[in-house]
Amino acid sequence: MIPASVFKDRSIALFGLGGSGIATAHALMAGGARVTAFDDNPDSVARAAGEGVPTQNLRKIDWGKLDAFVLSPGVPLTHPRPHWSVDLARAAGVEIIGDVELFARERRSHAPDAPFIAITGTNGKSTTTALIAHVLKSAGRDTQMGGNIGRAVMTLDAPKAGRHFVVECSSYQIDLAPTLDPSIGILLNLSPDHLDRHGSFENYAGIKERLVAKSGLAIVGVDDPDCRHIADRLERAGRRVQRISATSSLSDGFYPEGTNLMRALGGVSERLATLEGIGSLRGAHNAQNALAALAACLDCGLSDREIQAGFNSFPGLAHRMEQVARRGRVLFVNDSKATNADAAERALASFERIYWIAGGLPKEGGIESLKPLFPRISKAYLVGEAAPSFAATIGEATAFEISGTIDKAVEHAARDAESDPAPEAVVLFSPACASFDQFRNFEVRGDAFREAVRSLAGTEMMGSM
Ligand code: ADP
Repeated sequence: MIPASVFKDRSIALFGLGGSGIATAHALMAGGARVTAFDDNPDSVARAAGEGVPTQNLRKIDWGKLDAFVLSPGVPLTHPRPHWSVDLARAAGVEIIGDVELFARERRSHAPDAPFIAITGTNGKSTTTALIAHVLKSAGRDTQMGGNIGRAVMTLDAPKAGRHFVVECSSYQIDLAPTLDPSIGILLNLSPDHLDRHGSFENYAGIKERLVAKSGLAIVGVDDPDCRHIADRLERAGRRVQRISATSSLSDGFYPEGTNLMRALGGVSERLATLEGIGSLRGAHNAQNALAALAACLDCGLSDREIQAGFNSFPGLAHRMEQVARRGRVLFVNDSKATNADAAERALASFERIYWIAGGLPKEGGIESLKPLFPRISKAYLVGEAAPSFAATIGEATAFEISGTIDKAVEHAARDAESDPAPEAVVLFSPACASFDQFRNFEVRGDAFREAVRSLAGTEMMGSM
């Protein structure tokens, strides 16, 4: 845990007592702050109180006596409307911050030289974060990973010289981190998302820009026009910027050439790494993630050989195009995280002979946008509520069956894939749907897929992190 000593002897109110809220309360208390915490859910308040966190209804406290208000990133700061606690803090002129801001201040005051790599973007945050942490660790660097992935940031080990912090930041966390100043900031991409919570795309993009605005080095994916403008603006302001593109070559920056990862400096290119044969980093989207990781790790002083070794041993993240098993020439891939057509599109684009298991709770638009990829699908196995509407969209385009459940779909897809004459056939679970019709969340759904695969005779399971 990182004791938040920057608020020693100060009075802090905290709202939001989920897992990370309680961890932040403990970090503040360990640093010597006077904390009063609350949540709208009485069970969360009782749990925090049971863990020794002082709790009180924040409607009843004197806000004029507070030094700061710490808000959980899950609680609305601006949209659809500010939470009542935010209104009270604003009325009293109390600054509103989150746990990533606490971390940034703590690092600045105790170990400003500890490398701090912060990652954001609409897609690929977790993969890039995990990849960078893995590469640094495999090169022997003292590495801590957390934030919006895995452990809450204040539960990591305390900053000290030489310790690397790889921190995934959601837009909500950035919105609560006004002085965020990573040594390396990564903005992967920007497309409309979470607009219900940020009001407009401009506002959302503006928040994401803040992660790179004060970073020592800004690594920016320039395939989206808004990111391109951000990179240009930063450069005009005299900041260090590295551009990455997953789709076109650059005269200065990082880009792919086939499976090779290239760096161009003043128009001269060199190959620094390759993704050839690395199953956990398949697809153009993962090239973007790997390019960002390459640029970041080079800036941390790793050699291209160390980075390549880290890429080669990257196990990938569970439920994101995760290779879970093999049976003969058939590969089984769990992409349960693909809760919409957009994400499923990237998985379908990454393989050739696909036995596709899809369905669940359908989203607006269904799988219309996937039609250009149907020729890659040897057969579709449809499950859940979406099965009839997906079947209607597929129509005559490719073979399909309504399997109903994941168990049945796995059994049938495995049988059919086995008789495919191609050198590699893939049973791909990329549902293009939410999971809530049959499962609690996408993780439980992905576990169900994995278990169904495990129960087939003769499968060889593969590891994951
Ligand atoms: P995030 O943490 O931003 O949600 P993840 O790394 O968990 O992203 O990846 C989630 C899904 O997003 C993946 O299964 C894949 O379909 C897609 N994805 C991953 N990286 C990218 C990227 N760089 N660009 C676009 N989509 C991506």
